[in-house]
Amino acid sequence: MTTIISGKDLASSRKAKLRLEIEESLVKYGRRPKLAVILVGNDAGSLSYVRGKAKAADEVGILVDTYHYEDDLTEDFLVNKIKALNADPEVDGILVQLPLPRQIRSDVIIELISPFKDVDGFHPRNVASLYLKHEGILPCTPKGVIALLDSANIEIDGKRAVVVGRSNIVGMPMSKMLLDRNATVTICHSHTKDLASVTSNADILIAALGKPRFIKAEMVKEGAAVIDVGCNRDSNNKLCGDVDFDNVAPKCSYITKVPGGVGPMTICCLMENTYIAYLNHMEGKN
Ligand code: NDP
Repeated sequence: MTTIISGKDLASSRKAKLRLEIEESLVKYGRRPKLAVILVGNDAGSLSYVRGKAKAADEVGILVDTYHYEDDLTEDFLVNKIKALNADPEVDGILVQLPLPRQIRSDVIIELISPFKDVDGFHPRNVASLYLKHEGILPCTPKGVIALLDSANIEIDGKRAVVVGRSNIVGMPMSKMLLDRNATVTICHSHTKDLASVTSNADILIAALGKPRFIKAEMVKEGAAVIDVGCNRDSNNKLCGDVDFDNVAPKCSYITKVPGGVGPMTICCLMENTYIAYLNHMEGKN
């Protein structure tokens, strides 16, 4: 029997808990956490992500200041804006919605955000903290995937985990987090030969390659737990994951759906990261 792990339900219960914690902290510290969100341009996907994040923040009681700029914004302007937000004692988290227009270098901007306010966990210092097992802010999507696996009591220790994708924001940190939980991890990418022979050995398969319904039933081991990170539009403009859900699901012990799987957990973890940044800030840890 296949269990569908609902990211929507898990995010909803974690956000309810977070809301209570934030209300308690408001009494203790006299202010709510605040997240600054920067959006440059009018990409439909980015606008929708930013709206989703603002809605989640509202649900949990985090204040959001959104700065929406036209796509001809200069890098200098954004640099000065980030410096001002870094220095603002009322701002706990800074999120720059990616991608940025060509004239603005994402790496320059990400490195400029204070690592203490980097709620996406993309700053090199937070990346290093993950790899060195130091305290830091973890990237939201892989953190959400681990929470999904834990919510279903899926054993990670000693299991064979395969991650398809090696991006800095998903595949690489995902692999490290699974390794830290004692899985035996294989990372696949576009140069992997005979991908199916690797994925079909996975007890835990994480699909994060960005190709609509790419992972087919014959690529999945009977009884595997499959987490679909993909967020794609198919040829009919329908939202879908990287996994051919209808054909893969019957083979799995556990699987997530798109939408309603990893997406809501990414946003939930962003809220949790903002709260962690706020607590560290209020408790004088940075
Ligand atoms: P990237 O495009 O940055 O990385 C894709 C990775 O997949 C690369 O490492 C690439 O290999 C690999 N890949 C591409 N094609 C193949 C293939 N045919 N076989 C094996 N590996 C392949 O994407 P992201 O990591 O940013 O995102 C991946 C997916 O996750 C996207 O659909 C994205 O929209 C989604 N996403 C969803 C989030 C959520 O909250 N639900 C959050 C973030 C992303 P190589 O390195 O060799 O090029």
